[in-house]
Amino acid sequence: MRCGFCEWRCEIDEQRHGVCQMYSARQGVIEERFPNRWSTYSLSRIEALPFYHVIPGSRTMTLGTTSCNFKCRYCSNAYVALADPAEHAPSMYEMTPDDLVRQARKLSCRSMVFNVNEPTVSLPSLLALKRSCEAASLPMGCLTNAYTTEEGTELLASIFDFFNIGLKGITSAFYKEYIGVPRIDPVLRNVRRLAAIRHVEVTTPVIQGVNDDHLQETAEFLAGIDPEIPWHVFRLLPEHEMKTAEYPSIDAVNDMLDSARTLLKHVYFHNFVGSNWVNTRCPQCGENVIERISLGCGGDRLDRFNCTDNRCRKCGREIRVLGTVAPDFVERVVCA
Ligand code: SF4
Repeated sequence: MRCGFCEWRCEIDEQRHGVCQMYSARQGVIEERFPNRWSTYSLSRIEALPFYHVIPGSRTMTLGTTSCNFKCRYCSNAYVALADPAEHAPSMYEMTPDDLVRQARKLSCRSMVFNVNEPTVSLPSLLALKRSCEAASLPMGCLTNAYTTEEGTELLASIFDFFNIGLKGITSAFYKEYIGVPRIDPVLRNVRRLAAIRHVEVTTPVIQGVNDDHLQETAEFLAGIDPEIPWHVFRLLPEHEMKTAEYPSIDAVNDMLDSARTLLKHVYFHNFVGSNWVNTRCPQCGENVIERISLGCGGDRLDRFNCTDNRCRKCGREIRVLGTVAPDFVERVVCA
């Protein structure tokens, strides 16, 4: 039978497990090959994932399984996303949804985020986890490549309350050459759909000389959907097959973003230590309303939350944030 979760629409059965190698089909039913097995579960700050506009300053439990439906040539998670899942399975953690929720509670997490690999390859386990999270009032988020079918996208939206979508380029030619899928169209369709019904942030990993010339068009695409979508431009240090690629110049990429900043209200440029472009400015008066520290390599954290009831303290403009600052967040104390 055909798997309808993502646009590969693989023919699967008891022996054939699709491009992702994560599903089987038996008597007309799709089964997960490794249910409730997790390659990792750990504690993180939500800004590090990155989510900059979701419960700022909160702790989150991050999760992953194995495999992916993309084959990115520069993948920095190749050891888990591109390896054979059957080889990983014996060393993975077997945890029920209730086990995970208990752990998250114990660690004072305010959400659960699937962030290591593509959630589309583990949907049944994530659907089960959703039920436990809902019972515990823990919102769920994920990082996704959004290559789902329309039905798959609705399934994702039924599980996750917030998304960070990896929009890796803006042309089918790029997706074909560097990602290994024939078309970008389903991704663009799904960004539009998810942004209409859920909190969405978007991340574009920028690779010097490869997709840096896509930045302006990507900003225009996002602005056409909603100028308040937070956009993370990620300075990518390519891995896997592209280890020898040049590291992006911070100044050159930053200059390219000047025009994007006139289209989108929240353009962030990070994934390197000490970035100056990780703060949220009020779209109305320009005040710094959320300040962060960039520690590089997904280590960002909240520094100050200068809003009252998610509104700029200077001009009162609403700042779009899902939830509000975590009640246990402690501002940095500046010594005189
Ligand atoms: S999730 Fe995608 S890649 Fe995996 S079996 Fe289904 S259609 Fe194929």
